[in-house]
Amino acid sequence: MSGAGSSTDLAATFRRLIERHGPMPVSRYMGENNARYYAARDPLGSAGDFTTAPEISQMFGEMVGLWLADLWNRSGRPDATYVELGPGRGTLARDALRAMASQGISPPVHLVEGSESLRKLQADTLSQAQFHDSIDTLPEDRPLYIVANEFLDALPIRQLVMTERGWRERMVALEDDRFVFAAGHSPMDDAVPEHHRSHPIGTVIETCPAAAATVEEIARRIDIQGGAALFIDYGYLTSQTGETLQAVRAHKKVGVFDAPGEMDLTALVDFATLGEMARRAGPAVNTATQGAWLSAMGIDLRAQALTQRAPDRTEELARARDRLIGPDQMGELFKVMALTPRGAPRGAGFG
Ligand code: SAH
Repeated sequence: MSGAGSSTDLAATFRRLIERHGPMPVSRYMGENNARYYAARDPLGSAGDFTTAPEISQMFGEMVGLWLADLWNRSGRPDATYVELGPGRGTLARDALRAMASQGISPPVHLVEGSESLRKLQADTLSQAQFHDSIDTLPEDRPLYIVANEFLDALPIRQLVMTERGWRERMVALEDDRFVFAAGHSPMDDAVPEHHRSHPIGTVIETCPAAAATVEEIARRIDIQGGAALFIDYGYLTSQTGETLQAVRAHKKVGVFDAPGEMDLTALVDFATLGEMARRAGPAVNTATQGAWLSAMGIDLRAQALTQRAPDRTEELARARDRLIGPDQMGELFKVMALTPRGAPRGAGFG
C-alpha cells in the first residue's frame, strides 16, 4: 500500500525530470500524481482521504438508479447496458442497480476503471462486471446508460496564465529544490477560448482536454446508440476564471506540491463548456445543482421511508440527507449534468 517511500519516489522523479528537461505542464503533474495515487489504494471512506456522495448514503445511488430506470422504461425497456466511469468502491453501482432491479431492470454492467486495486474492490461488489481501460471499448450495438460521479474532477487539467507577453501554459518548476508554478515560454493564445482572451495579467484559466474528449465521445455515443448519461461533480455552470486545482489528503486540504503521488488532485468541472460541447454533438443537455436534483428525485420521501423502517437511524439519515442537499454542504457546489438523445424523453428532476 501507500507510504512515505512512494511519495518521495514520485517527488524525486518529478525533480529529476524538471532538472533534465525543464518545467513540466501542470496537466502532466496532475495526471501522473493521480495515476500513482489511485493505482495502489482505496482513497475513500474515513480511513482514506475523501468521502463521496454514494459513500455518505445509499439514497444517492438509489436516486441515480431510479432516474435511469425511469428513462429506460420510457424508452420501451431496450436491451441496454449500465456503464459507470470511475466507480470507486462500486457503492453507487450497487445501490443504483438495486433500485433498478426494483423496477424490473437488471442490465449487464460495464465499468471504466484505471486503478487495479479499485477494480478488485469493484469486482467484489459487482461480480458480473466487465472492465474497460477507456470508454473506447464500450459496447457499440445498444443503448448505454452511463453514470460518472466525481470522475471528471480527477482528470488532468491544463492551466493557462496571462503574462506580460500574452497567454502561457502554467508549468511546475523548481526553485531551490522546491516545486513552484512558472509560466512556460511558448505563446498559448490559441489555446485560450475567445471570451477569455483579454484578462488582466496574472489571470489563470483552466481547461480539461481529457474531460472534453470524454464528454464529447459519450455525447456522440448517446446520440447514435441511445441511452443517457449522468455526470455529477463539483463544478460550475457558468464560465469562470481562476485556479481551482486542489489537493486533499486524509480529509484535509493540503498544498498541491506537498505530497506527489500521495494526495488526491482535483479541479472544479467546467460544466458550462462541457455542456456546450455535448449539445454540439447532438444530445439534449440538462443541468441542475445536486441539491435541487436530489430533492426533485424524491430524496425526502426516500429518507422518510428508510426512517420508518429503521427508527434508530433517524438522525443518521437526516444528517446524510443534509450533507447531500444542504446548500452549505454538497447541495450547491455539486452539479448534475444529464445527456439524453435528441427528441428522446428528458430525464426527471430538471425542473
Ligand atoms: N465514483 C466513485 C469514486 C470517485 S474517485 C465515488 O463516487 O465514490 C475517482 C474514480 O475515478 C476512481 O475510481 C479512480 O480510480 C477513477 N479514475 C480516475 N482517473 C481515471 C482515469 N483517467 N481513467 C479511469 N479511471 C479513473
